[in-house]
Amino acid sequence: MSAQILDGLALSKETRARLKERVDALVARGVTPRLDVLVAAQDPASVKYVQMKRKWCAQVGIVGESYEITETTSQADLIGKIRELNADPHVHGILLQHPLPGHLDENMALMELGAEKDVDGITPQSLGRLVADLPGFRCATPLGIIRLLEHYGIETVGKRAVVIGRSIILGKPAALMLLQKNATVTIAHSRTQNLADICREADIVVAAVGRPEMVAGDWIKPGAVVVDAGYNRVEGRKGDVGDVAFESASQVAGWITPVPGGVGPMTVASLLSNCVEAAEATITNR
Ligand code: NAP
Repeated sequence: MSAQILDGLALSKETRARLKERVDALVARGVTPRLDVLVAAQDPASVKYVQMKRKWCAQVGIVGESYEITETTSQADLIGKIRELNADPHVHGILLQHPLPGHLDENMALMELGAEKDVDGITPQSLGRLVADLPGFRCATPLGIIRLLEHYGIETVGKRAVVIGRSIILGKPAALMLLQKNATVTIAHSRTQNLADICREADIVVAAVGRPEMVAGDWIKPGAVVVDAGYNRVEGRKGDVGDVAFESASQVAGWITPVPGGVGPMTVASLLSNCVEAAEATITNR
């Protein structure tokens, strides 16, 4: 392997240690940061992610409640809960864990969630602020990616970046954030033609596809920075598999994120840091 590792786990540890200090300072002033979560109880992956987020919250001193969304939760119940949490001054962040059960309209629910508590940065208001270059909470996963690049001093100005994937929580905001950092950005998706050739031109590749090891080593320009946001379960393989074929890509890339230990821990660290910021804002705005 010739690539250097963009170590998301190590940076997330550092971030969490700094967040703990900020939380201690808040608690000393009578504010305990609180993140409340709404999660589909029947979705084992969501429940697992929420447990992991809760564990890291507890480590830095963020408290919170989880509310189960079930097949019997109506849209009115969901909206009612979000409005209640919006109005509760003790709640600083609200996380609507995706996906919700199919009978619920997730977009309608997100439109209700107050931007000042949208610590996952995925409501239309927060995304609009990103598009408009206005301050606001940024999406946790792309924010984690940008912080990782910044930490390792990766140059983005004038660089060719290719983001593979255009989801509202990952691909699109990641592309916009790279654009804000003055990269020249291409967004690729399932209808993109000659994807391998497009990737070969990239100084920075962000894979956000959900297809195990789709990005092969020979798609990578020598020395490029490769960020793998994917995590996929593959029959017969232990643990999560990224969207990038790590073995071959790491022979060519200059920098690469591992899976696990790259983008995943940075996502949670960014969520926590947004939540601490939301709690700090309540003091500033007093
Ligand atoms: P998604 O909503 O399913 O979006 C996938 C995107 O990939 C879509 O834009 C799709 O294009 C595109 N795509 C699919 N097949 C393609 C192909 N053959 N060539 C090029 N583009 C293709 O997924 P997501 O929520 O963005 O998640 C993407 C990956 O990131 C998943 O592995 C997920 O588990 C992971 N993830 C990780 C984190 C983290 O914290 N690390 C957080 C969220 C998600 P179309 O738009 O044309 O369909």
